Amino acid sequence: MVSASNTSSIYQRPAELLQRLIQFDTTNPPGNETECIAYIDTLLKKAGLETTRLAKDPNRPNLITRLKGRGSAPPLLLYGHVDVVTTTDQEWTHPPFEGKLVDDFIWGRGALDMKSGIAMMLSAVMRAKTDNLIPAGDIVLAILCDEEAGGEYGAKYLVENHSDQFSGIQYALGEFGSFTNHIGPKRFYPIQIAEKQICWIKATVRGPSGHGALHMRGGAMSKLADSSKGVKSALDSFSKWKLTFHNLNEMYCVSIRGKMKQLRVKSRLDLTPFFSYVVVNVPFRKICRLFEEVRIGLKT
Ligand SMILES: [Zn+2]
Repeated sequence: MVSASNTSSIYQRPAELLQRLIQFDTTNPPGNETECIAYIDTLLKKAGLETTRLAKDPNRPNLITRLKGRGSAPPLLLYGHVDVVTTTDQEWTHPPFEGKLVDDFIWGRGALDMKSGIAMMLSAVMRAKTDNLIPAGDIVLAILCDEEAGGEYGAKYLVENHSDQFSGIQYALGEFGSFTNHIGPKRFYPIQIAEKQICWIKATVRGPSGHGALHMRGGAMSKLADSSKGVKSALDSFSKWKLTFHNLNEMYCVSIRGKMKQLRVKSRLDLTPFFSYVVVNVPFRKICRLFEEVRIGLKT
């Protein structure tokens, strides 16, 4: 375990704080966030803040602290998670749980997602407390467990059992938004208004039918093999919305269905991919129209 001694001014050294947080192996599953949360709890208490631990399972605690404001604005929520995804079967240039500083970069699992965010939030709140800052509204800091595996013990548990902790909050700073996002030639700092959504599209690929034992070019199957390229080029062509393919987080092809008789090559294949993406500042109806045009574009 990382020692919590000599931590009186750690908020002034957020990079060091990040290194320490990385040194807790909070790989989820199983999570094992207890020691990391205990360390953060110690820091906050030393800074003079009161903390509340809330847990569905004592080994999976969440931690909340509140910096009192003047009450002239709604409370602002800062929130983040301390669990990280697995490193199993991965090759790392530097050990994932050492938090090494190499050429001004800190290496480690969670350096980006999202112990760096936690380090920044902790530093800000501890600094504010130490400087006797009284903000317009309360600042609520929620340090969560179990984000990477569904939130059953983290956000979900808090929302369902301790929603009173968040009453009056209208805005939150969390993991997404606020970092640079390039959409076409423009730079954006998006505001997230919802979680990932799914948009289904269905594409039909047609080609000549034939005999399965005979060589044939230009059939539906070969066109389908190129379909992901087709989707990409169709998306790239929508310059009027300045959207590029990387704005779509993921694309999955979930089913391929064809009409096939014995020894007959399929003449028609239905491809059903779906896209998921983080809703940022692109209106939902525009996204849906985009996919509709992709669908039409793929009908060959
Ligand atoms: Zn995350």
